[in-house]
Amino acid sequence: MSSQTRTLKSKKTIALVAHDHKKDELINWVKKHRAILTEHHLIATGTTGKLIEDELNVAVQRVLSGPLGGDQQLGALIAVGKIDMVIFFWDPMESQPHDSDVKAFLRLCVLWNIPTASNSTSADFLISSHYMDEEYTVEIPDFDDYLTRNIKKGL
Ligand code: PGA
Repeated sequence: MSSQTRTLKSKKTIALVAHDHKKDELINWVKKHRAILTEHHLIATGTTGKLIEDELNVAVQRVLSGPLGGDQQLGALIAVGKIDMVIFFWDPMESQPHDSDVKAFLRLCVLWNIPTASNSTSADFLISSHYMDEEYTVEIPDFDDYLTRNIKKGL
């Protein structure tokens, strides 16, 4: 598939999600990076967002809780270019009622070339990048090109 580009502004929209047994870890990470995070726009699933809001004392845009459709809402925002970065501490030790949504969400992160961290070390590296306070040009799929792909009858 051919690609086009999208420019991430210096002020990023960062999506944050943590499964229940990962929420403490995410809140500790958020505390550590309070100064940088408060420079950006934060969006999160319901419960995670409430915890971050309480911790940072800043407004966090909240979608539904993950199991109630929040991951799908975030995925939809990724597909229309409204999210620039994802910090998603998913739990590798426990299956979730919404595993299919988690998989779909992570697939869209890859498809739309979203910088994504799923553990605190990766998240430390991402948030320390000099791109955090600069514009950055991302290659994304050229959807117009995809719509005009060759579809042969009977295949
Ligand atoms: P929550 O959702 O932040 O509302 O707990 C997260 C998830 O389980 O995907």
